Amino acid sequence: MAAESSGPRSPILPGSRFDAIVVGAGFAGLYMLYRLRKLGFSARAIEAAPGVGGTWFWNRYPGARCDFESMQYCYQFDEALQQDWEWKERFASQPEILAYIEHVSGRFDLRRDIQFETRVRSATFDETANEWAVETDRGQSLRAQFFIMGVGCLSSANPPALPGAEAFGGKVYCTWKWPHEKVDFSGQRVGVIGTGSSGVQAIPLIAEEAGHLTVFQRTPNYVVPAQNRALSPEEVAAIKADYRGLRARARQLPNLYVFSRHTDSALSVSDEERRARFEAQWVLGGLQFLGAFGDLTTNPEANKFITQFWREKISGIVKNPMTADLLTPKDEIFGCKRLVSGNDYYETFNRANFSLVDVSGEGGIERLTASGIRAGGQDYPLDALVLATGFDAMTGSVVRIDIRGRGGVTIQDAWRDGPGNFIGLAVHGFPNMFNLAGPGGPSVLANMVACGEQHVEWISDCLVFMREKGLASVEATAEAQKAWGEEVAAAAKTSLRSACNSWYVGSNVEGKARVFMPYIGGFPRYEAFCNRVAAEGYEGFELR
Ligand code: FAD
Ligand code: NAP
Repeated sequence: MAAESSGPRSPILPGSRFDAIVVGAGFAGLYMLYRLRKLGFSARAIEAAPGVGGTWFWNRYPGARCDFESMQYCYQFDEALQQDWEWKERFASQPEILAYIEHVSGRFDLRRDIQFETRVRSATFDETANEWAVETDRGQSLRAQFFIMGVGCLSSANPPALPGAEAFGGKVYCTWKWPHEKVDFSGQRVGVIGTGSSGVQAIPLIAEEAGHLTVFQRTPNYVVPAQNRALSPEEVAAIKADYRGLRARARQLPNLYVFSRHTDSALSVSDEERRARFEAQWVLGGLQFLGAFGDLTTNPEANKFITQFWREKISGIVKNPMTADLLTPKDEIFGCKRLVSGNDYYETFNRANFSLVDVSGEGGIERLTASGIRAGGQDYPLDALVLATGFDAMTGSVVRIDIRGRGGVTIQDAWRDGPGNFIGLAVHGFPNMFNLAGPGGPSVLANMVACGEQHVEWISDCLVFMREKGLASVEATAEAQKAWGEEVAAAAKTSLRSACNSWYVGSNVEGKARVFMPYIGGFPRYEAFCNRVAAEGYEGFELR
């Protein structure tokens, strides 16, 4: 399968004691490693995959690309790097993003400190030594003062438990661990389960190749055309002429992302003006639609206008009225789930080799059979099945590690009622442990590369402060964590997103505590909190 390299396994690197162990070699973990090394800390990164890239190493399905513009969805820490790299497309494809990350790791010689094909199984805080004892699945025991997780918010899959899976005679492909070699669907009967961002990106390309494609849809999504295109040399040059200015403007915006954004209410304009604004943002493409008005995701009345607009758009594209109706979101709140940025998605439903099956009813997909899927009392014969069913988001990859803090308390216990933390970075009871771009920060609501950079820089500053003061441990206090939890919850209440089902609240994972996990108070407010904590000598942390 995807992750397994055909060659020999990566060697086990020498050394067992470091200042810091970083888990993950995606955007966040790589920059953490770079920064630690630059500041003179000894560090080792541990990565389950055989290569760097994280999300962009694993998600190789056809059509995978970013939904933030490439020229912003990349590092800004090194001016020469951002000037040198040439993005080809407005929304880069997975191969282009992976090539970029590989370029970065080569440029800064990061691989020599990364232990690949190795999974961190457990991490236990040694209260006497004030350091973490880390065990890997290759039998290594490592120790470090700091344990830093860059394990990713969308890196632990959440496959559905489909009865009869073992009986299915066809091939099963998962978007989150797509094979490295090209999958050839020519002439095959292919089924796709999942119409979130991954499914929506893959479906048009699989449809082009397959003999017949059947999409099993449980919930229709709001899909906006990305309007992807090649970047012109002129627009690239214009951005590069003032890249720092663009980045500085992004820092003043809630999502750390510069795009066309209006702040007025959808209720404050005439029907005609509103329609024209929606149309203009639709043409601009992708997530910019969210910027049509300031209250689309906070005011239920404003939100309702979108449903009507989408109904008109879909019926204008999709020729079969029944299919158009099935594709139209009805009770779903716009923006509740992440807005999906697609390419030719609705157009694909006009193809002759295409069927849409509604599995929203009681029972949904009944089971897999030897020859396909049984749903709604009907059999759908399939040669291949693609799962695009999403992730145990934000906490999955953290709680899958057996982490034990002070007094042997496990992270699973500490997070039973939700991922409590202080400023998204630290957890009370787990000294010297940091989490990059996870719950409690803007992370998944913002440009995640830029968010990760801010986390890395904050943590690096904290580590330098500790080194200078000769401190052994840093731990979020219970009071600070409680107050931050209240801030996160209060911010969540201002958005319609916290009241509906999505992976943001963990409702896609059975038994998971229902909490709106990211911080929706906006990046500028978040960064101000972080800066204040540092300026006050790490107020909210106990330093020993
Ligand atoms: P990841 O890239 O997820 O890396 C985490 C790494 O940790 C993985 O390589 C994993 O193998 C490793 N790991 C986890 N647990 C362990 C362990 N126990 N031991 C060893 N290794 C471990 N965000 C945006 O802002 N814009 C986008 O356009 C965008 N597009 C996306 C498209 C897809 C298909 C997906 C799935 C996500 C997308 N995201 C996007 C979110 C994306 O996850 C982040 O932007 C970013 O890539 C996350 O980087 P990261 O380093 O935090 O985590
Ligand atoms: P997702 O948004 O969680 O979508 C999962 C899909 O699978 C949903 O349509 C869900 O239906 C369906 N599903 C799950 N279990 C099912 C079952 N048993 N039967 C039928 N349907 C089932 O996951 P994702 O598409 O992988 O995206 C996750 C996140 O990753 C995105 O929100 C985004 O942040 C990021 N991402 C971004 C991009 C990009 O454009 N750059 C691309 C891919 C991913 P329900 O809605 O009914 O639950």
